[in-house]
Amino acid sequence: MSNAPEGKASGGNAALAARWRGALMDNYGTPRLALTHGEGPRLWDADGKEYLDFVGGIAVSSLGTGHPAVVRAVSEQVARLGHVSNLYIAEPPVALAERLLGLAGRPGRAFFCNSGAEAVEAAFKIGRRTGRPHMVATEGGFHGRTMGALALTGQPAKQVGFGPLPGDVTHVPYGDAAALRAAVTERTALVIVEPVQGENGVVVPPEGYLAAVRDITRATGSLLVLDEVQTGIGRTGHWFAGQAAGVEPDVVTLAKGLAAGLPIGATLAFGPAADLLAPGGHGSTFGGNPVSCAAALAVLDTIESENLLQRVKDAGERLRDGIWGLGHPLVDRVRGAGLLLGIVLTEPRAPQVQQAAQDAGLLVNAVAPDVLRLAPPLIIGDAEVDAFLTALPGVLDIVDTSTGER
Ligand code: PMP
Repeated sequence: MSNAPEGKASGGNAALAARWRGALMDNYGTPRLALTHGEGPRLWDADGKEYLDFVGGIAVSSLGTGHPAVVRAVSEQVARLGHVSNLYIAEPPVALAERLLGLAGRPGRAFFCNSGAEAVEAAFKIGRRTGRPHMVATEGGFHGRTMGALALTGQPAKQVGFGPLPGDVTHVPYGDAAALRAAVTERTALVIVEPVQGENGVVVPPEGYLAAVRDITRATGSLLVLDEVQTGIGRTGHWFAGQAAGVEPDVVTLAKGLAAGLPIGATLAFGPAADLLAPGGHGSTFGGNPVSCAAALAVLDTIESENLLQRVKDAGERLRDGIWGLGHPLVDRVRGAGLLLGIVLTEPRAPQVQQAAQDAGLLVNAVAPDVLRLAPPLIIGDAEVDAFLTALPGVLDIVDTSTGER
């Protein structure tokens, strides 16, 4: 099956952007590009221009576009049984829960919903069910835009104008175990941490941080929630980033890459935390819908059959070493894990570099003024990594470090 370019969409990028502006709410600002289709790690826009996809739908398109295993699983499932609601069960969500718990390697239970924020919201409600009032999260952390998830998010700019938020949340500096120890008490229901802060600019905590967080939460009987919405399901070269740190959380949140672009969120809970929402404590009409779950099962099968955890480690290393090896004056550092990488610039020129890259046929994401995030599909080949590395110096050169002008 091929998704070969079909030519221009009617009116192209500009026409679609104009319609978008008139019809959709303005919460995302100006659209960058109108995309029409893709194939593997490549995308095409409405003007017929081709791009190498190093955004991956923000770490969602784990198998690229149109992977045959996902197409087959989704087509078969939607034809057989597309929706059952939460009044009934079906095979795909049960099989997916079993698979995810098996990958975690511990007994537990899963709750399925439709997005990362909802997965965090369920974790928030599990926390409330402990009967403890207080929660601890990290400065710069991102957990989603629903009200509970927003209260845990440690980026005040995203909270402005939406108060009052659910209360009694303390934010502590990310990566600082001593600050966390001082904030967590026996009043603390949960501590929520990302293994790598994705939205905050791909920030990696110091070695041993997650293990220290585990020790601190265990000492007070507080739940440790690892928000693996961005880092989970192979993105860092492991099923769960927490496993690489040898940490066993009480709750894990997943979404993004789990179903390769179909909407899904999952909250896994282990030990006593697994029983806190029962009975009748929480729900979702679409959550665990068979089609998204079938797509997720196809993703897990493909990660195994195509040995993608190793591919992510190898491609991530090639990409990271290659970028650093350019020795470009605009590159200060490359950080991250697996195929979640941040190119930290010496100057806050990430938006200009993002535009220059787009002009050159590379999609990258200016996640912070001075950080470009790379989250390509996990199936990315050496040839695509090398094509990216060949094009990158010309893109970086377009931004003059002395003036910041293009
Ligand atoms: N948690 C983390 C760590 C995330 O990166 C995100 C999304 N960027 C979310 C939660 C929220 O996910 P969603 O946008 O699907 O609600």
